[in-house]
Amino acid sequence: MTSVDVEQEENGLRIVSDATCTFCGCVCDDMQLTVEGDRITKAKNACVLGKAWFFNHHIEDRPEATIRGEPASYEQAIEHAAQILTSARYPVTYGLSDTTCEAQRIAVAISDWIGGIVDTTTSVCHGPSGMAFQGVGEITASLGEIRNRADCLIFWGGNPAESHPRHFTRYSLTPKGEFVPRGRKDRYAVLIDVRRTKSANAMDKFLQIRPRSDFELAWVMRAMVRGVEVDPAAEKQIGVPLSEVREIVDRMMESKFGAILFGMGLTMTRGKHLNTESVLALARDLNTFKKIPSRWTAKPMRGHGNVTGADNVVTWQTGYPFGVSLGRGYPRFNPGEFTTSDLLARQEADAALIIASDPMSNFSQAARDHLASIPVVVLDPKLSDTARIAEVAFTTATYGINTAGTVYRMDDVPIPLRPAFESPYRSDQEILQALETRVRQLKREQAAGTTSV
Ligand code: SF4
Repeated sequence: MTSVDVEQEENGLRIVSDATCTFCGCVCDDMQLTVEGDRITKAKNACVLGKAWFFNHHIEDRPEATIRGEPASYEQAIEHAAQILTSARYPVTYGLSDTTCEAQRIAVAISDWIGGIVDTTTSVCHGPSGMAFQGVGEITASLGEIRNRADCLIFWGGNPAESHPRHFTRYSLTPKGEFVPRGRKDRYAVLIDVRRTKSANAMDKFLQIRPRSDFELAWVMRAMVRGVEVDPAAEKQIGVPLSEVREIVDRMMESKFGAILFGMGLTMTRGKHLNTESVLALARDLNTFKKIPSRWTAKPMRGHGNVTGADNVVTWQTGYPFGVSLGRGYPRFNPGEFTTSDLLARQEADAALIIASDPMSNFSQAARDHLASIPVVVLDPKLSDTARIAEVAFTTATYGINTAGTVYRMDDVPIPLRPAFESPYRSDQEILQALETRVRQLKREQAAGTTSV
């Protein structure tokens, strides 16, 4: 239901150039897709994860909408969903990391009209980073800058070789750049992690630290950068010789452009947002106490295709990236209180709008039990576990493959989508727009006292 921009036709096969893969936060926009009917049969430039994303995509044979599992018309489903959301006292909107920014902004508007919570999957991945940005700030850079300038890379608490397979080759480790003309040879790369992963093989140095000692290591490094004497007892805590840390810090201070790229191994272990704050502060220190003219940046490695867009859109509209309550008519940010997994586990929400996410497959048992006991509206291309328990479920077109729109790469750069072929199902944006219109009407009627909702 979105016009598809086909560049060439070859032997009856359609070729879509410069398409975008939305499987991971790298959002590679150099795909060349070969389309046969409603299947993608070739995906040039895609990594193994991207190929699986494109090749496994197929149009589901499902009703456009269901109410309590029974097929319903689109109009009936919109009406029923709007009634659920407007009659709830504590509704929550959740998900949003696998849809377009255009859909995300309407979801925030709906949350505002119904005075609910708006939360994204960030709350269960890089939420602590979002809190750290609010507290410490972020020294940012685009992946283009890193590609063209970075001569020192510190990967911390992540395994990009397997989670973001093209990151090394397209953005960070191996590409030749304007100021690093010899590519890999001009870069010094370190992996800091609690276990050896495939990524370690691509590094100059692997620092295997004790589990749950990221915070201590970051502070040891900060001390070294600032010229403060480090207590030798710290060595036992972090589990590596201080001389090895000193060697890395010296290389960092001698580099011209450095990037710390951190994953959930940093943000979701003991210390959480304090870990991220200490790494962000380390980047700040490196910029302050430098030996040569240089610049350091620290960026999270984001997972879902448009989770960065979700952070951006929710922040544009509320001032905060996730876990926001609009119940008092103005935004309040309080992770723990307004994050979906927590408030569901406490049995607080009385209705939910779940967009492009499957909390029934990954939330705690307590949260899942409560979600299954309240009316839920789901938008999803697949019959997910959450769609199975939904009061109202919409089958949607898949963003990037079937629908156009905008997504944000993990470095906050917006990327346009070029869909490969049309879907018989509506996009999230179209459904949410219809839902928002009906919610607005019902809220007006409620305010005027002309409805029994
Ligand atoms: S690195 Fe990520 S965005 Fe790029 S092709 Fe692979 S899965 Fe897709």
